Amino acid sequence: MDTFSELPLSPALQQGVHAAGYATPTEIQAQSLPAILAGRDVIAHAPTGSGKTAAFALGLLHRLDPSLLRAQALVLCPTRELADQVARQIRKLAVAIPNLKVSLFCGGTPLAPQLASLEAHDPQVVVGTPGRVQELLRKKVLHLGGVRVLVLDEADRMLDMGFEEAIDEIVKKTPQNRQSLLFSATYPDEIRAIAQTMLRDALEVGVAGAAHKPDIEQRFFEVEPARKQPALAALLGGFGDDSAVVFCNTRKDVDEVADSLRHYGFSALALHGEMEQRDRDEVLVRFANRSCNVLVASDVAARGLDIEDLGIVVNYELPSDADTFQHRVGRTARAGKSGIAISLASARELPRAQRIEELLGTPIQWLRAPAAAPKAGSAPPAPMATLRIDAGKTDKLRPGDVLGALTGDAGLNAKDIGKIAIFATRSYVAIERKQANNALKRLQEGKIKGRKFRVSKL
Ligand code: AMP
Repeated sequence: MDTFSELPLSPALQQGVHAAGYATPTEIQAQSLPAILAGRDVIAHAPTGSGKTAAFALGLLHRLDPSLLRAQALVLCPTRELADQVARQIRKLAVAIPNLKVSLFCGGTPLAPQLASLEAHDPQVVVGTPGRVQELLRKKVLHLGGVRVLVLDEADRMLDMGFEEAIDEIVKKTPQNRQSLLFSATYPDEIRAIAQTMLRDALEVGVAGAAHKPDIEQRFFEVEPARKQPALAALLGGFGDDSAVVFCNTRKDVDEVADSLRHYGFSALALHGEMEQRDRDEVLVRFANRSCNVLVASDVAARGLDIEDLGIVVNYELPSDADTFQHRVGRTARAGKSGIAISLASARELPRAQRIEELLGTPIQWLRAPAAAPKAGSAPPAPMATLRIDAGKTDKLRPGDVLGALTGDAGLNAKDIGKIAIFATRSYVAIERKQANNALKRLQEGKIKGRKFRVSKL
């Protein structure tokens, strides 16, 4: 199958594919979609970046009857970030389907609005994390008796996070004759066991083997722990404007490495699981809008991260298992692009390197790390800066309002303004770094939508 038009998709879904800008199916889509659309259960060995989301999104949209106001598709994801992206991709592909309600139910977000939304009417598509979906089921506000398609996304991650029991409980509430789709980057025995109990006559598809490997250049450096921070700064400095994600094994390293990179001049931010959801959102917005050029993250925090064009991924330390390594480096080289994975390892990490060698199927070529540390403040900062406005959707603020307030008479040039992200009670706008103070003054002194809001520079 070379084109989407060969698939039995409705005209509305063909339109959605077109609107999303997908010209040809990815490998995993080509392998799985004919079976998914025919209603078969599928288990897919598909890492992030393979196009798996669109594969199951098209599948579930295909089976929906938008005129029925009840949950017909359920997608379970390990994290809120991933669930959020999945919901967005489903909505994008469903642009031409009127009156479709896609709801997001995740832990770490307020329950009250979700209860209110369910009271209005059930969504046809539910996307959520197992904990919250389980909670809503127990409260008897969410009903899964009409589910036609069940999707377990990043099933291996959900198991790692201890969601197995919640998943079991949820699945039991869905009809037996549902279609089940299971996606997993790795294939441990536990996944096989789940597949056995939840799937029937499933087609197994997989993006495995060298032929389908994404184009990732692996560079391994042997560096002693005390030299890692300067070596990292020197290596990243060599990439100029490209943004990078640096993975650390511990929360302490996340903070220390981010501090060290800032000392060298990078616009680095830390992201770890113990941060408040709001602060995590803020960090992700700043990374996505290019006012942070190095994101230093723990594995939990980075799950589901979908940043377009992420050219460089760094392992500040090798993870203890090869699966985590695969997940980390899979953040780069998405959708057919190429990427670079840098790994720093000290002598005591060499046993871990062996496991990674097995995963890669080739011996590691060790490179020498740069010996000289860069000067403090010499590294490139991010090209943009972020202003935060303490107003959002609840104030009916839209991107156009922010743009208007900045670009009016004698204001900024539209080309100096980057991404605008509006949340419930706050909004973020990226501004060309050199213009940021100018823009801040303008927003503080002027009005947005005729009203004064608090604005600060992050
Ligand atoms: P995923 O593996 O679902 O995380 O998808 C990775 C990225 O590939 C997402 O940004 C998708 O929007 C994109 N994508 C999915 N399918 C296609 C396609 N057929 N052509 C181009 N990009 C795609």
